[in-house]
Amino acid sequence: MSKIWFNGQFIPYEQGQIHIATHALHYGTSAWEGIRIYNSNAFMLEEHCKRLLSSAQKIHLSCTHKLQEIIQACKNIIEINQLRKGYIRPIIWLGSEEMRISGANCIVNTAVLAWDAFTDYNPNIPGLNMEISPWRKPGPSCIPSDLKAGGVYMMLSLIKNQATDRGFDDAIMLDTNERIAEATTSNIFLIKNNILYTPKINGFFLNGITRQVIIKLAKKNHIEVQEMNLKLQDLHDANSAFLTGTSIEVMPIAKVYDDFNKKEKIFDTSSHILQKLRNAYHEITSMK
Ligand code: PMP
Repeated sequence: MSKIWFNGQFIPYEQGQIHIATHALHYGTSAWEGIRIYNSNAFMLEEHCKRLLSSAQKIHLSCTHKLQEIIQACKNIIEINQLRKGYIRPIIWLGSEEMRISGANCIVNTAVLAWDAFTDYNPNIPGLNMEISPWRKPGPSCIPSDLKAGGVYMMLSLIKNQATDRGFDDAIMLDTNERIAEATTSNIFLIKNNILYTPKINGFFLNGITRQVIIKLAKKNHIEVQEMNLKLQDLHDANSAFLTGTSIEVMPIAKVYDDFNKKEKIFDTSSHILQKLRNAYHEITSMK
């Protein structure tokens, strides 16, 4: 990548540096998005930029750039860097003007970065090997969890590293009410008797944009969708399961180790519903 957008200017990638006293580095005061580029277009760009500004607002970062300006910056970054495929990361954060916890006198910065490749997993593997994390996802009475903010991702990074250290690809988190919440950077769907189940929005997990697209695609394909509270037993009772997210797209889960009940669940990764949704998602993203 040659250029990034920083507070309204295009600057060389190497010049995108910030001070060690940056408030966001110390306190996690940043809001950001991850957007995929398909065929030189940012997929669901407006939805991501709206969520960026909403995440910023939820953690009291008043971004001086308007929605249309950020959308345009993302489009320009794709063009300037001549990206046909890749990943865009717009970010809003508190600067280095003061170290007090409120950061009330810090400047709110905005930048847009992009890369030509960004993926955590090989899309050709049959499915992921997951664990149920021993950590619980806190809810709205503890911390706003349904947003993309730096501070929240410290916990998700810890959960991911713990899972990979133990030989898993990623972890599924339960919330503090023992309901299935999400994986570290993706939402979860279960399939049982040809019905699609996914946790209903409750403030404990991010309402993924891919999740919303998959629900629409399922309904369009006459697949019944139930958004409801799901418990660990629902996972054990399901036939198939998959994750959705900007980076991971639609990824089957092959197995889950549940340390709470000391049992492993093996899923059918060749479910026709899963394949149908995976193909439908691939089709709409490749049309972009
Ligand atoms: N949950 C979390 C915690 C995430 O970081 C992500 C990735 N943004 C998702 C779910 C999936 O969201 P999306 O489909 O909007 O990428």
